[in-house]
Amino acid sequence: MTSKKLDAFLTENIEDLQSKGLYNEIDPVQGANGPVITINGQELINLSSNNYLGLATDERLKEVAIEAVKSHGVGAGAVRTINGTLDLHIELEKKLAAFKGTEAAIAYQSGFNCNMAAISAVMDKNDAILSDELNHASIIDGCRLSRAKIIRFNHSDMDDLRLKAKEAVESGQYNKIMVITDGVFSMDGDVAKLPEIVEIAEEFDLIVYVDDAHGSGVLGKGAGTVKHFGLQDKVDMQMGTLSKAIGVIGGYVAGKQKLIDWLKVRSRPFLFSTAVTPADAAASAKAIDILTESTELQNKMWENSEYLKKGLKGLGYDIGNSETPITPVIIGEEKLTQQFSKRLVEEGVYAKSIVFPTVPQGTGRVRNMPTAAHTKEMLDQAIGIYEKVGKELGLIK
Ligand SMILES: *Cc1c(COP(=O)(O)O)cnc(C)c1O
Repeated sequence: MTSKKLDAFLTENIEDLQSKGLYNEIDPVQGANGPVITINGQELINLSSNNYLGLATDERLKEVAIEAVKSHGVGAGAVRTINGTLDLHIELEKKLAAFKGTEAAIAYQSGFNCNMAAISAVMDKNDAILSDELNHASIIDGCRLSRAKIIRFNHSDMDDLRLKAKEAVESGQYNKIMVITDGVFSMDGDVAKLPEIVEIAEEFDLIVYVDDAHGSGVLGKGAGTVKHFGLQDKVDMQMGTLSKAIGVIGGYVAGKQKLIDWLKVRSRPFLFSTAVTPADAAASAKAIDILTESTELQNKMWENSEYLKKGLKGLGYDIGNSETPITPVIIGEEKLTQQFSKRLVEEGVYAKSIVFPTVPQGTGRVRNMPTAAHTKEMLDQAIGIYEKVGKELGLIK
């Protein structure tokens, strides 16, 4: 017999979400996650991936991954600290540090893992963390895990940050204080005000932690938001993912050698969870090589994102104030947003609705992620479908 309590809990809560239009159905993709994908046998223009540079299906990455499988096998075999640290991991970490312009870097199994690992390795219950209210779920969970006092500040509101930093310092209650922010906010595509954050951090001796999951590969010639602002020497911890623009899987923290040494002895996902596979490490390292050698892919991505934004704005959609390729089309009400997204899919555009609780209630949107792999023809076709569906639902004239 299984638990009646669990069954009642699950039934009640799933039905509640469904009735509110908040239950997310997952669509399996048949084949690769490229600029055009197949779902339920239907070909769709894919505007939902985080594969900014098209590297997830890049031939050069596939080739080194296959070679790594042949030379090193399919698994790392152990956690990093036992004997799961392969030469491929070390090479990847060296390349990441050079790319980010820091002394050292440590690789993890995912970006999510990085935040669980690194925040709690550095902060504890005697500390406080100033956290932007729109920070990613993994930052929030990492902060909670550390047991430090979490002090939220209004989104990108530097007066509020300064005030709360001052209060925290003057309270005398905390040992260390950290300020933590997304480099690029994933739902709106706006960029953190890092120059001001760094200035406030210097004034109050705050540890600066930037989660650059959506900035890496995109801003700063690919090296991220911190490089974009030229602040490599002022940010203590730069976290990044290998799962988005880099196209593979994994995450990393880049910073001073001493910080990385500490994370290698104290961060729990590094100590207690097996390292990424040889193919992952080799493919990620190859991606870093490609980004170091040329900005061709970034240029294409920016060109495509400008093109799509212009097209959608021209139709009369509210696309927010994104400063990156992330292009939301803000609809508002949850059910309408989901209906809009469903019609887009039926017409051939895969752009997922994002609703509460991922974004605040009443700000439902369809988020578009143009990549370097899209062609102008694909984008034109997508814009045409946006026009048709928007008129049909009375969202545009
Ligand atoms: C996607 C994302 C992560 C998680 O990265 P994964 O490598 O996919 O686990 C962490 N932080 C932010 C801001 C993200 O957008």
